[in-house]
Parts: sequence; structure tokens; C-alpha cells
Amino acid sequence: MANNALVGRCGIYCGSCVLYRAYKDEGEYLQQVSEAWEMPVEKIRCEGCHALTVNCAGSKCRIVKCLASKGFEYCSECPEYEAHACEKHEGLSKRWVVDNVDLRVNLERIKAGAVGNWLKECQERFRCTECGKPLPVLGWNVKKRCYHCGVELSE
Ligand code: SF4
Ligand code: SF4
Ligand SMILES: [Zn+2]
Repeated sequence: MANNALVGRCGIYCGSCVLYRAYKDEGEYLQQVSEAWEMPVEKIRCEGCHALTVNCAGSKCRIVKCLASKGFEYCSECPEYEAHACEKHEGLSKRWVVDNVDLRVNLERIKAGAVGNWLKECQERFRCTECGKPLPVLGWNVKKRCYHCGVELSE
């Protein structure tokens, strides 16, 4: 597996998450997110869903806490997920669909064991077409331009 840390237990590719990118890429983007969210830079941190430390934002995630309480690794193992009855996952899915990310499709890929290929596709998708460096989903890109090279970004 390429980098298991970035495989979100809810189906998110953590490499495209605003918190992960701001923490890892630092500089201009970290400042933008800090200002937009009115959050101190030292609080913006996450190592990815499968590598969480106590200081990671993901450790406070209610889905991660729920998964732990139920003993599941992924939401796709949960009967409430199957029944579309979990407001936590349904709400999260709706937010990500705006950026053309289908968490259910992602969880199916993960469940089918295609994690390595899925991660490679995500790395390819969530990067700047100009400089090739990683980026968050467009909806979380405050200025809609690559903070590495400055090129304007569109859908
Ligand atoms: S907060 Fe952390 S665990 Fe949650 S999606 Fe972002 S990187 Fe992944
Ligand atoms: S109840 Fe929701 S958040 Fe909890 S494991 Fe099931 S689908 Fe995931
Ligand atoms: Zn770029």
C-alpha cells in the first residue's frame, strides 16, 4: 500500500483534506486557512486517518470516535451506513459531493482491496496540473489558485 495513513476510514482521501494540506504544506496555505477559519496555526494539524496522534484534528473527529466505539475500521462495515441512516456520514458525503468526491465509491474501492490504485489515482487527481505539487479539494482552496506556483485553478 502506498501510504495507508491517508486512507480515510469514512472514505476521504486525507491527502486532499484542508487540514492535512495546510499542516504539511505550511506557508501561505496554512496562513490562509488559519485566517479563514480563525484558528491558530498550531491547532491546524493532522497526520491522516490511519496515523492519528492525540494532537491531530482527526482524533477529535466524531466519525473516528464512532468507529472506535463500534469496533469497525471503515464506515462501510456499519449497518447504519448500509441503510443510509447515519446522519454523520450522510452529512459528510453531501459536503464532499460538491467537490465531485463520492465517499461511497471510495469506500467500495477500499473494501474491494483496490487501495493502492485508489491512492495513486487520488494523488494524481489532487495535484496542480502546472507544477505537479499536491493540493486540497478545490472547495477548500481559499483563493482558487495553486499556492505552490500561483496558477489559477478551475473545476
Ligand atoms: S482531519 Fe485528518 S483524518 Fe480527517 S480527513 Fe482530514 S486528514 Fe483525514
Ligand atoms: S454510525 Fe455512522 S459514523 Fe458511526 S460507524 Fe456507522 S456509518 Fe460510520
Ligand atoms: Zn502549482
